[in-house]
Amino acid sequence: MLFNFPISYEEPVYRPPSEWRSLLIQVTIGCSNNKCTYCDMYRSKTYRVKPIEQIKEDLRKCYQSGMSPEKIFLCDGDALGAPMETLVATLEEIKKLFPNIRRVGVYATAENILEKTEDELKLLSSLGLTIAYLGLESGDDKVLHMIVKGNSSKEMEDASLKIKRCGFKLSTIAMLGVGGRKYSKQHIEGTAKILSATCPEYFSFLTTFSVPGTPYHKMEQMGLIEPLTSKELFTEMHDIIEQSSFELNPVIFRANHVSNQNPLAGTLPRDQKGIVHKLKEWISNTPDGVYPPRPHQM
Ligand code: SF4
Repeated sequence: MLFNFPISYEEPVYRPPSEWRSLLIQVTIGCSNNKCTYCDMYRSKTYRVKPIEQIKEDLRKCYQSGMSPEKIFLCDGDALGAPMETLVATLEEIKKLFPNIRRVGVYATAENILEKTEDELKLLSSLGLTIAYLGLESGDDKVLHMIVKGNSSKEMEDASLKIKRCGFKLSTIAMLGVGGRKYSKQHIEGTAKILSATCPEYFSFLTTFSVPGTPYHKMEQMGLIEPLTSKELFTEMHDIIEQSSFELNPVIFRANHVSNQNPLAGTLPRDQKGIVHKLKEWISNTPDGVYPPRPHQM
């Protein structure tokens, strides 16, 4: 779909799996952090905010080509970090051209959320920006420090609660195996703790595979990070789900990303027992010492 759009993108362009039907509009290029050790998505790009006239021009071209999108996703890696003037002008243009738009989404870092005021975030949600995707990755400070995520678990928690208070739906992503074998236990405990405290409306797991050329891959090659076996990955997922409580609101849970070994989905806490039971089965049916196959496309 990307290549049929009437506008040009500075590639590569990424979006969350659930935004596969959305019109993608680049508001920023690259990622303002661009330091996470496992991530190679925007290493080829120099971070910058796109001029508002270019963004408006892209939107106008889509409108003139007859598009009538239900959803729009603002790219790239953390477009919520763009200045308020850019975001407000973009959202107003979207409202003008596509008055029936159902929602606009964006990737956000905890930093992006914390540096905006509540009034600013509320203004953005009132203009239609109503879902933010946050890469939590882990709720453990040691792991967050090791992967150079740029924010502590407390900042992740504060940012999550803040953006929910301001009218956004929050979609949180955690990475199975990101702490390696050494930090698996604390990764489980910290992630369960933050999930219980924040109850994002959507929660998903990705599985960590080290990407050649990244610092994370180098650490793995040096033996500083030991990747988890299939059984250990299932155990992490099982323990995180089992140890979390979902009391603030229902959480739509997905572990169906291409990186995950088996798809799993449900609504928590309603399906929590069933999911934990299913994971127990997977754990007991999986032999020791077997590693998950690397997905072809991530
Ligand atoms: S914040 Fe996201 S996009 Fe940016 S480097 Fe980290 S993982 Fe990659």
